[in-house]
Amino acid sequence: MHLWCMALLVMIFTLIMAGMSIYNSIQAFNRAVTNLADIQGFSFVFMAASFISAERGPANILMSVDDASRDQAYENWQIALQKTDAALSKLDTSSVPRNLLKDVREQLRLGRMKVEAAQFTNPGTLRYGEIHEAIVHLFQARESYDKIVQQQGTELLRHDEDLAAVVFRVTMLSNLREYAGRLGSYLIAPMAVRKPIPAENVIHMRIIGGRIREIWHLLELGRKPDVEASSDDQKHEEANSRYMIGVLALIDHQIRTAQQNGVPALDAVTFTKQYSAAMKPLAELRDIYFAASVAKFEKRERIARQALYYTSAMAFVILGLVVGLVVVVQNYIFKPLFRGAEAIVSLADDLPTDLHRETRHVAEIQTLYSALEVIAIKLKERSFLVARLEHLAHTDGLTGLLNRRALDILGNSATENYTDLESIPFLMLVDIDNFKTINDKYGHVVGDEVLREIAQLMQNNICDSDYVARFGGEEFAILLNDSSCMDAAIIAQKLRLAVERLAMTTSDGSVLKITASFGVAQVGDQSWSETVNQADLALYQAKKAGRNRVRFADQVADALEQYSGAEIEAVRHS
Ligand code: GH3
Ligand code: MG
Ligand code: MG
Repeated sequence: MHLWCMALLVMIFTLIMAGMSIYNSIQAFNRAVTNLADIQGFSFVFMAASFISAERGPANILMSVDDASRDQAYENWQIALQKTDAALSKLDTSSVPRNLLKDVREQLRLGRMKVEAAQFTNPGTLRYGEIHEAIVHLFQARESYDKIVQQQGTELLRHDEDLAAVVFRVTMLSNLREYAGRLGSYLIAPMAVRKPIPAENVIHMRIIGGRIREIWHLLELGRKPDVEASSDDQKHEEANSRYMIGVLALIDHQIRTAQQNGVPALDAVTFTKQYSAAMKPLAELRDIYFAASVAKFEKRERIARQALYYTSAMAFVILGLVVGLVVVVQNYIFKPLFRGAEAIVSLADDLPTDLHRETRHVAEIQTLYSALEVIAIKLKERSFLVARLEHLAHTDGLTGLLNRRALDILGNSATENYTDLESIPFLMLVDIDNFKTINDKYGHVVGDEVLREIAQLMQNNICDSDYVARFGGEEFAILLNDSSCMDAAIIAQKLRLAVERLAMTTSDGSVLKITASFGVAQVGDQSWSETVNQADLALYQAKKAGRNRVRFADQVADALEQYSGAEIEAVRHS
């Protein structure tokens, strides 16, 4: 598997992980935001519920007070009504169904009308039925509002089950306050008209009292120390002592006195004031719990927001690191590796290779390139040795001329390509005359010296494009590349004369007389060995004719026939 494939996989994997983390954080954040908005919206619903319940207190007082206190009671009632109306109008722009709100308003209007009517009745002529009716209408207003609470609560639960605990507990607290209000309200009418409490009211009160105790019991069961604040604990104790113990006993006392004396012990106004004060911790308990719940969801939203920021930041940092890593790996590992591979191929092809240009920030790459440098040095040494061996393989040790092997390579190549050449190549074989005599007379060392001298002489008398080789023993070969047959004949004569004129003196002062015989053949469509044979044959003829002369193979001799004149004759027959 390619490394870059792995790098790509790592990048894709990181991208997916980062994307998933951010997605999850966004989901959690959205959920926290929605829950907070739901709880805040729900608080408006409950605020209206508590104002509707709370409105009954001032209404009860208004219907029970004497003329002297009525104005003040009326004013208090109006303030309570305004609070309810303001709370309800906030729901106009919410998701609360219009028809449910309309019902509530209608019930409130009827209830308030009854209260209004009851307050103007002369206390002496107050009728129990009027007050009771007004109170029952106000109960109905609150009951119709319960539909809104239920509908909104269901909506919340549909959004998120996490909200269930808050919805249930706050509903219980709210119901507790409502039932407490109703419990007291059933005493108002008999108290206001100073009449016995009707059996129907007593039954209602017993039922409601039972519900209140039941709700209180459930609330106590559902209390969680980690969720409840310490102020909530205090309020719970206060509600327990003031309402659950104190007021419920007060109610029982009123019922008992009314049964014994015909009328309740307290009058409506005194009772309402005492009762309202004792109910206060219930409403406060509800408000504290709700405020704590809102605070809890606000905190969750804050934490989810922070988690989203941190996750996003972390994801971007990790992504940045991965991208950085890929760039670093690409520049400092992949590229040097690819260039290393190219360098190896280029070294193998013996091409100039610069290994020092490569960046080597990574230790492993450094090691690789150090090894490549060693290879480069070794290859250089080897190619030098190969060149040296090639040179030795093609060079004659005594004279420094090309040897027979090299000549054959050149000759074969000239034979293969002779049709492409501009001029005809010629082979000239040169054999020193009576060389054995020189050896015999002056020794092999002098003989060697003569061979070297002749080799030098020939080298000096040919062009750069021509080659001189030691053909073997005291024989030499010259491959003329850039010649015509006339040129070849002239060069042969020139060399022959040069050898003849070479005056070599030995150590004992005697002058050596050296001559050589020449055989010239043309490289043509025959094989190289055939050309060599032809030149050898011509050389043999030169020897046979008396030595120190030049003879031509038939082909060359025929070509020379075209030429005329004394000089040519001289060349041809010398
Ligand atoms: P010819 O005119 O017929 O060519 O007579 P020649 O004596 O030159 O020819 P021959 O073939 O009889 O003798 C060649 C001699 O060349 C014999 C050999 O000892 C001598 N020779 C061959 N190679 C070398 C060498 O490397 N050094 C020396 N000193 N002598 C050599
Ligand atoms: Mg010979
Ligand atoms: Mg000879």
